[in-house]
Amino acid sequence: MPLPPLTEAHARQIAAQHYGLQVQAQRLPGELDANFLLSAGEERYILKVGNADHDPAELDFQNRALAHLTALPGVPRLIPARSGEEMPIVEHDGQRHFIRLLSYLPGEPLVRCPDRSPELLRGLGAFLARLDQALADFQHPAMERDIPWNLAHAHRVIRPRLHAIPDPVRRRWVERALERFEQQVRPYLPTLRAQVIHNDANDHNVLVAQGQVVGLLDFGDMLHAPLICEVAIAATYALLASPEPLQAAAHLVAGYHQVIPLTTTEVALLDGLIRARLAVSAALSAERALIEPENPYHQISAGPVWAALERLDPVPAEVAHGVFRQACGLPAFPSLAAAPAQPGRDEQTILAARRRYLNPTLSVSYRRPLHMVRGQGQYLYDAEGRAYLDCVNNVCHVGHSHPAVVAALAHQAALLNTNTRYLHEHIITLAERLTAHMPGDLSVWFFVNSGSEANDLALRLVRAYTGRQDMLVLAGAYHGNLSSLIDISPYKFDGPGGAGAPPWVHTLSMPCTYRGRFRHAEDPVAAYVEEAAGIIRQVEEAGRGVAAFIAEALMGTGGQVVFPPGYLAQMYALVRAAGGLCIADEVQIGFGRVGTHFWGFETHGVVPDIVTMGKPMGNGHPLAAVVTTPEIAASFVTGMEYFNTFGGNPVSCAVGLAVLDVIEEQNLQEHARRVGEHLKARLKTLQERHPLIGDVRGSGLFLGVELVRDRETLAPAAGEAQAIVEAMRERGILLSTDGPFHNVLKIKPPLVFNQEDADRLVEELEGVLQEVEQPA
Ligand code: PMP
Repeated sequence: MPLPPLTEAHARQIAAQHYGLQVQAQRLPGELDANFLLSAGEERYILKVGNADHDPAELDFQNRALAHLTALPGVPRLIPARSGEEMPIVEHDGQRHFIRLLSYLPGEPLVRCPDRSPELLRGLGAFLARLDQALADFQHPAMERDIPWNLAHAHRVIRPRLHAIPDPVRRRWVERALERFEQQVRPYLPTLRAQVIHNDANDHNVLVAQGQVVGLLDFGDMLHAPLICEVAIAATYALLASPEPLQAAAHLVAGYHQVIPLTTTEVALLDGLIRARLAVSAALSAERALIEPENPYHQISAGPVWAALERLDPVPAEVAHGVFRQACGLPAFPSLAAAPAQPGRDEQTILAARRRYLNPTLSVSYRRPLHMVRGQGQYLYDAEGRAYLDCVNNVCHVGHSHPAVVAALAHQAALLNTNTRYLHEHIITLAERLTAHMPGDLSVWFFVNSGSEANDLALRLVRAYTGRQDMLVLAGAYHGNLSSLIDISPYKFDGPGGAGAPPWVHTLSMPCTYRGRFRHAEDPVAAYVEEAAGIIRQVEEAGRGVAAFIAEALMGTGGQVVFPPGYLAQMYALVRAAGGLCIADEVQIGFGRVGTHFWGFETHGVVPDIVTMGKPMGNGHPLAAVVTTPEIAASFVTGMEYFNTFGGNPVSCAVGLAVLDVIEEQNLQEHARRVGEHLKARLKTLQERHPLIGDVRGSGLFLGVELVRDRETLAPAAGEAQAIVEAMRERGILLSTDGPFHNVLKIKPPLVFNQEDADRLVEELEGVLQEVEQPA
């Protein structure tokens, strides 16, 4: 696109005609606009004459941003013309050009400052952070721009240009940066805070005076993106010119962090983003060199980028992450050995060894078992490097191998791991932070290692408090693998190999709105509660009393079962009136997964007496807990100590705290609500087209798709469900089935699962449904 062919004489004329200014004009360099420095005595201005095909919406985006930033020192102001217009139009040679007059900012471009002290770089970080603070509430219809400089989409720029890099060594550097970005950065970006950012703090745009940053120019690359991209882009420019690249970047990061504290996840992604930004520059310049081989400028300008890639390529990601953590005052952690997939035993050998050495009742998922070697975010990778979109592993709640959680674990493991009979701060901080998420009096914590340990302890608390043993449980429920819990899990005792309920365990009908026994009753809640009341009466007639009712608020193994509204509240009232306690099993559904609330029981407006939790709490690390009231906890003080060797150790608690940090910092509960709502709506439209889908239900990112052969009889389509799971696996998507008939597809991905993933899941599922529905 040629620059507007205007001369200095034209610029003087424009200044006089539109701004009433008698000036000297001097042409300045510019990429898209023809720029002039105008001087009238002491007064100076910048005149920008825009290219004829400039998008007016994008220019307006810049103008509104500048107007929004008027109070911020160091940003140019837009000066209206005599007519009052912000962007008068001039005609030249039959072309129309938008013109803008900007105030002149003093200072030298950073590119002319050879001496970049740490203070200067920190100052630049702080300047950008203040700019971003001011832009935080700025919105514009044109802010979502698809330009190559959108770092969040670096992969789209890099991948199609890899072929343009002739040198295989250089191509490997770029490929490694791309792999890193796709696998370790991209999964987390959609969950990060995003806003309008400047997006181009390069050395030509930053103004310096007396060793300090005094201004920033060129708002032409602004867009809406994850905030951390601002830091990564500026840090990339800072390191390009430095003999100590990581240190230079770290100074800038430190300065930014002092004004806008970065989250642990943002810090963890910085290094991958910086490498991606370098790779974008390298790929674009390689492409230009291919198109214009005779122009040596492309080679020269890319020199520092290649040099930086060469310097950074061998630096382990953990080392760079450690440098940025330190810059932000976070404890560094020991370098983790990067764990490339070791060529090891193949699937058949592993299967044979499992048969010989492992628990013979253990099953393997999928007809063609998967050999996973790595995980990141919502993706798992098999030994061949194939990526699988994980829609089912709810344990890795905030993302597989989340870098901030891994960092917290590694740091604490290197420092201290011991038992809870020594004083330690982490366990207390964790208890305080979790209590803040609890309603009522739920404030006394027992930290354990699994959901089963938590539920077993809940049973002991109930017995201590009530002196009773009889339990009310829901058909299809699962509460754990200990003998005490097989006893209260109809899923097990009524399933294959089960011996039925012990005499003190009473199974209530599953209050499922879709398939439940009383779903057609005039008042289903009353019918279910009446059934429970009858059982309580029988227990009492036998001279005993009900100790407790245990239930998940949304049943997991039951098949993502949704209760009719009011059910849980009425059950709690009934059980309490009979002197029993109410236990909420949040092992599967807690920690924000249901989207609208942090805990599943909150969706029913009830407050339990005991809550148990596990799975997501440690993001895969064995960490679980029981919380109860001081009164119930006091009844457990009998002289016998409850001690748990591993429960609540400093490493587990550090992990638990990191998980809470990530949920809060990345706003994952709200993310689960938004993405879950979108996914559920799309699944419901699938249901309209596919008779096999009987029901779509659940909340947030805890959804179930129940498959039936007949929507009247509800005959379960278990074979079809299994076939769908297998076919989806072949398409690189992990799902599984559950429910008493194994006909419910369960969807409970790591919470970083995003809208794009949801769309892909629905599209692939539609393809597979068409295959399965075709008559054989
Ligand atoms: N309760 C519920 C609702 C569960 O889903 C599970 C595990 N599937 C447990 C308890 C037991 O947890 P763990 O496997 O950690 O012992």
